[in-house]
Amino acid sequence: MIPTRTTREWQAADSAHFLHPFTDYQSLARKGSRVITRADNIYLWDSEGHKILDAMSGLWCVNVGYGQRALIDAATQQLAELPFYNSFFQTTTPPAVALAELLAEVTPPQFSHVFFAGSGSEGNDTVVRMVRRYWQVLGQPERQVIISRHNAYHGSTMAGASLGGMAAMHEQGGLPIPNITHIDQPYWVQHGQGMSRDDFGRLAASWLERKILEVGPEKVAAFIGEPVQGAGGVIIPPETYWPEIQKICDRYGILLVSDEVICGFGRTGHWFGCERFGFRPDLMTFAKGVTSGYIPLGGVMVGDRVARVLIEQGGEFEHGYTYSGHPVACAVALANIRLIQQLKLVEHVHDDVGPYLAQAFAQLAEHPLVGTAETCGLMGALLLVKDQAKLTPFDPAVGIGMVCRGHCFANGLIMRAVGDRMIIAPPLVITRAQVDEMVALIRRCLDLTLADAQRQGWLQG
Ligand SMILES: *Cc1c(COP(=O)(O)O)cnc(C)c1O
Repeated sequence: MIPTRTTREWQAADSAHFLHPFTDYQSLARKGSRVITRADNIYLWDSEGHKILDAMSGLWCVNVGYGQRALIDAATQQLAELPFYNSFFQTTTPPAVALAELLAEVTPPQFSHVFFAGSGSEGNDTVVRMVRRYWQVLGQPERQVIISRHNAYHGSTMAGASLGGMAAMHEQGGLPIPNITHIDQPYWVQHGQGMSRDDFGRLAASWLERKILEVGPEKVAAFIGEPVQGAGGVIIPPETYWPEIQKICDRYGILLVSDEVICGFGRTGHWFGCERFGFRPDLMTFAKGVTSGYIPLGGVMVGDRVARVLIEQGGEFEHGYTYSGHPVACAVALANIRLIQQLKLVEHVHDDVGPYLAQAFAQLAEHPLVGTAETCGLMGALLLVKDQAKLTPFDPAVGIGMVCRGHCFANGLIMRAVGDRMIIAPPLVITRAQVDEMVALIRRCLDLTLADAQRQGWLQG
């Protein structure tokens, strides 16, 4: 059993022993962690008894909300029946088979096979291994290069972080690994001001073709992208971007990989982000929403083009994880996907709360601090600016996003700051009344941030 302790005691033991991910350890030790003790629906409670609206779904994953009985029962029953067996050495388990079957059903028609992993990062490591193997089997081993985007997030293993385009991550540890290269992201505020969004989308896609020609088309294995960049700050591409990317990949025969770790399983109001944006990937990475985060699971959907080559000509694929197809994780994923179907959560986002959130964000756009307010399904981002008309950024030294995030924490709302972009991705089960509650909290935090900016003189100059 886990003992009962005071907040202070938890914090002391935490900083004495626990190295957190993506954390400045001295700063955490000074402030002390926030201790989350329980959750229900879209709310969390901390060790001080504060109730918090979780507008980030944990970490983009708790799509069906907390406390869902079907997932809890699926895990406990499977733990009792068969807590673990591997899928190496020509063995399998019923939950892994049933999940593979259901995934083939809910994903786009080109997918009838899955490779299981333990996380999104491991899924993307699998992508790197698999696309290089594919070209090797086809007798084109020089096709090694994978093109990704700056400010993409594809996980934190060596391959995941290399595919990602986070400069701070590359600086620590000699990344990217060889034969991974990046183009600029389709972020209109950064690269497209003065152009229509549609023209900018075509321009940003053309950077892929330029890179392919620079590298040499005969050396390029694949292009990978998130339909909407999540951790990069909810960067929603123009509608023209992905169809153009598809054409370019087709033109050079390059594999197209959609990292659906955030966008998959209903987040965009479609089952998968590629369906929202009208492209047809050869491989799709998934994790997070596949189990609503109740238990770790990730993997790669393998399209027929690649699966056929690996199955018919590939011999042994020298890759896999102890937990590939973990029976408990697969049982939870099965229950989760069936619940998404039963509750019609994809339709709920597409027809009801998605458009409702879009309307609310259009109103938030009028707040003097907000430069752009965008949503895609149940993802949203507000860019905080000094001058709304000119989209003038704040002095980076101010850290306006962190100031706003501080007010959110203090007012019972979890909203994340990525630079000056304030982002949300609430559980898909959120109701209209709860959207109202969330937006009222956001508005209050924007007002408090504006008051700070006025008091401190951050709006001048
Ligand atoms: C979170 C994330 C990953 C990494 O998943 P982990 O389970 O943390 O390894 C990969 N891709 C995207 C788009 C993500 O958001």
